[in-house]
Amino acid sequence: MSKMILVSACLAGVKCRYDGKSNKTQSIVELVEQGRAIPVCPELLGGLETPRDCCEIKSGNFREVISDRGENITSAYKVGAQKTLEIAKIIDADMAILQQRSPSCGCGKIYDGSFTRNLIDGDGFTSALLKRNGVVVCNDENFNEFLNR
Ligand code: SF4
Repeated sequence: MSKMILVSACLAGVKCRYDGKSNKTQSIVELVEQGRAIPVCPELLGGLETPRDCCEIKSGNFREVISDRGENITSAYKVGAQKTLEIAKIIDADMAILQQRSPSCGCGKIYDGSFTRNLIDGDGFTSALLKRNGVVVCNDENFNEFLNR
């Protein structure tokens, strides 16, 4: 069983998405209630507000995050990823369950930066940084197979 788990706050029911909604997932709420998981929102940790513009990683690389109004807000994503990693270290998390497709939390698939809902292989800023630091990152669809390891 994993030690402590970091979860995307929107999966735990926090209305922190860019559009002011959540992605509440009951089994993840229960992990938090059981004291096994801590919710974090990297984008809010990076200084962004809810609601905020829709953003994507340009061309699927890690150089720039662009809003749908053309604003470059890469620095907020870097700060949010770094702060999330700090929290992961403080709580000694060895696993993270993150929301798919997000430019911060996306794990395995992200939007391609064209704002046409086209998906490509890749990770969001936070997901990639956690992986580079030894945290096992899974998403809201496949986390059960990781939890039962
Ligand atoms: Fe959810 Fe992550 Fe986006 Fe925050 S940054 S709203 S936790 S997907």
